[in-house]
Amino acid sequence: MKNIKQELICIGCPMGCPLTVTMDEGQPLSVSGNTCPKGKTYAEKEVTNPTRIVTSTVKVEGGDRTFISVKTQTDIPKQKIFACMEEINRIVAKAPIASGDVLLENVAGTGVAVVATKAAGRM
Ligand code: SF4
Repeated sequence: MKNIKQELICIGCPMGCPLTVTMDEGQPLSVSGNTCPKGKTYAEKEVTNPTRIVTSTVKVEGGDRTFISVKTQTDIPKQKIFACMEEINRIVAKAPIASGDVLLENVAGTGVAVVATKAAGRM
């Protein structure tokens, strides 16, 4: 069977190394173009199980600000991002909120929580 090559840009640091992954039957055989081992790990994960941390904002009720920034506590599967955003858009957080507070458990069935990355005091 013919090997397939997939081109990626590493997002592990600002260098943005161009990576080439050689694939065989859906599995990575080799990675080239990476300047450090992080690039190989990233490429292998990206072609088999791509994940991302999702960042957004949610509405605040009764707070000294109307929105706060939030993020998923860890990365989640890329195909769950839209479902995750739909659930985040429905959150209305009640002040006071501390940075790190869990605002939603198990977003989109991923087992990952959405947490505040900013604080909001009471109005
Ligand atoms: S391969 Fe290493 S040096 Fe290159 S962008 Fe990725 S993390 Fe940075």
